[in-house]
Amino acid sequence: MGPIRSFSAASAASAASAASAASAASAASAAAKRRAARWAAVRELGLDLAALLWPATCVGCGVVDRELCAACTRVVLGGDAAPVRRVDGAGVPCYAATAYAGPTRAALLAYKHGGAFGFVRPLGRRLSGPLERVLADDSGGMRRLADRIPVLVSLPSRSQGVRERGWKHVDELVKVALRASDFPAARCSALRALRHRTGQVGLDAVGRERNARLIAVRRRAVRRLRGRPVILVDDIVTTGASLRAAVAALEAVGVEVVAAVALCTALRRDMPQKTEWNLTGEKG
Ligand SMILES: [Zn+2]
Repeated sequence: MGPIRSFSAASAASAASAASAASAASAASAAAKRRAARWAAVRELGLDLAALLWPATCVGCGVVDRELCAACTRVVLGGDAAPVRRVDGAGVPCYAATAYAGPTRAALLAYKHGGAFGFVRPLGRRLSGPLERVLADDSGGMRRLADRIPVLVSLPSRSQGVRERGWKHVDELVKVALRASDFPAARCSALRALRHRTGQVGLDAVGRERNARLIAVRRRAVRRLRGRPVILVDDIVTTGASLRAAVAALEAVGVEVVAAVALCTALRRDMPQKTEWNLTGEKG
């Protein structure tokens, strides 16, 4: 009897300590959220003061204000309440936050090519929408996740682009998206661009497919990813060629891809008649 009693006393003690650890964790997360909200308010005030002292032009609408005015920031953050959109052609269930157009397109261009790293915050927060949608998708993502913690794998940038920018732009968006949501996920830089890979813009269908396949899985990532559900992440999805190629490369080494997400969906420049928006962001 003695050992049994002492066992249950020990398990009661461990249950009590687990419960107190859980309540301590939730109190800590509430405190962290309050701190984050305070910092966000201070940051907004700082941006307003900076705009007064050094007025800039909003990349979204051109008014003299901050680099991204309050109205355009609201659009980038999804204040227009546009629903997350399903994208076909990626080879796995795929969702994008919004169209590659308007202030979101302008902010993404400035972030990728204009050195405007600060835009990572609104853009990354917008990316959390499709990530959360993947978890709610019982036709694909959620059921295959089956309570396993997914790993987010970004599509690789060309190394020249990374050198010019100084940061891996999709990875940075993913970090913000994860912080902005309660999405339980890990990250892994599992893919790399091979030599001669270029941007997809301006290539025809055959060129896109060929160029998209110029990616490889890092060998040291394979062991980490096997047995875990992978969600691919990209900034813009157009035909889905890059995502399809990434799915194929990962599946070829025994890694399961359950879904893909993107910030924006763009439509191909050579088929604007079927679309509301073409790649340049103007009505086509
Ligand atoms: Zn604006």
